[in-house]
Amino acid sequence: MAAEHIVILGAGAAGAAAARGLSAAEGIEVDLVGLSREKPYNRTLVNKGVATGLLEPGQARLPQPDVPLVADTARVVDVQAQTVELESGATMDFDALIVATGSTPRRLAPELTGLNAAVKSQRVTTLHSMEDAVRVHNVLVRSPHPARIILLGAGLVAAETSSLLSQAGHDAVIVSGSTHPGRTALGPIAADRIAELHHTQVSMYLGRTAREIAVVEDHVELILDDHTRLDADLIIVALGTVPAAPAPWNGAVETDDHLRVIGAPQVYAAGGVAVHHHPSLGSYRIDHWAEAAAQGTHAALTVLHDLGKAPDPGAYLPRSAFSVRLYDQTLTGVGHTGPTTTTRVVSKNPLSIVHTRAGIPVGALGLESGRFVRDWIPYLHVHT
Ligand SMILES: Cc1cc2nc3c(=O)[nH]c(=O)nc-3n(C[C@H](O)[C@H](O)[C@H](O)COP(=O)(O)OP(=O)(O)OC[C@H]3O[C@@H](n4cnc5c(N)ncnc54)[C@H](O)[C@@H]3O)c2cc1C
Repeated sequence: MAAEHIVILGAGAAGAAAARGLSAAEGIEVDLVGLSREKPYNRTLVNKGVATGLLEPGQARLPQPDVPLVADTARVVDVQAQTVELESGATMDFDALIVATGSTPRRLAPELTGLNAAVKSQRVTTLHSMEDAVRVHNVLVRSPHPARIILLGAGLVAAETSSLLSQAGHDAVIVSGSTHPGRTALGPIAADRIAELHHTQVSMYLGRTAREIAVVEDHVELILDDHTRLDADLIIVALGTVPAAPAPWNGAVETDDHLRVIGAPQVYAAGGVAVHHHPSLGSYRIDHWAEAAAQGTHAALTVLHDLGKAPDPGAYLPRSAFSVRLYDQTLTGVGHTGPTTTTRVVSKNPLSIVHTRAGIPVGALGLESGRFVRDWIPYLHVHT
């Protein structure tokens, strides 16, 4: 019998984990499709490693799973014909496909006055790709020390980056359209505690948006909606991410609780690209490294099950922790921690929170309480 062909799109956290989960299985052939123009790398090192100059880009490469890596970009998936059209013009057939193409940074509105010129001057950038990391590093190296950096956005990547920059002696400023940033992802108690941390270390302009950007000789000026003018060597746009699947999805890929793509038999999705629909957890998307890798592993198990080669792995449940260093403290979280959960503060200092839904623990979060968060992992999603 011919081997079944499994194609994985995206060679990051989720794709590499899926490939590892499939590489030892018998009777299948796996191809891992990465982007044409880059070698797969660990995205978490974009700001912590390469932008700060601690690592060269090559040092952030991901160890490759034991499957062939196809350096080509997926353009269009034909779900009915079970084919993927690649940028090179080649077409791949699949018996099963795992979409793990991650996310792309949310950008400023293109009509923002001065944006194009500022982007061309390399003084406005996102911080998502290795190219972005090198751009940020180059500005930091060329600017007088301390460099003045504006973070537009106040999510976890912006928060961590502002912490990294200010600890490296630079002047970081956070500008956020939200008056209470982070509440959607972390809930109000943790988000407000993080805002307090920022206030002790960096200047913050909350509830403010960009009205105009102007390149002035060797720096850039950000004009806010209340006409405040902020000078900077660099503006980093860190407004969160949006899922980035190729056509026909062109964005998010919706999955059921086993990570099967809804309306597309033989297609699965994992990581930042996936929006999950679970009977009790509802619809959700979680975009962090360990979670993406766990989803990749689970998608591989579901594929093997559907091909009759493994038992049913059951519904996917988020149980993988992340941690972020914010100034001199570490934020650790796992599972669902947003405002659609009920919050129980177990300790105010160190901050330790359990999140429940319908009485069932679904997440945990803490500042300087990583042990507490990790101790909760076995109890998440368990009816007691
Ligand atoms: C600056 C930064 C710092 C971060 N720090 C942390 C951290 O400290 N801890 C943490 O847990 N998370 C962190 N994250 C988030 C974490 O990196 C992501 O959640 C994780 O990478 C998601 O994994 P993924 O596999 O879904 O996507 P990715 O790891 O981004 O992998 C997707 C892959 O698909 C490829 N791809 C995209 N489109 C195509 C296509 N059409 N064809 C072929 N290949 C394609 C991409 O090139 C990429 O290699 C950080 C993110 C950023 C931007």
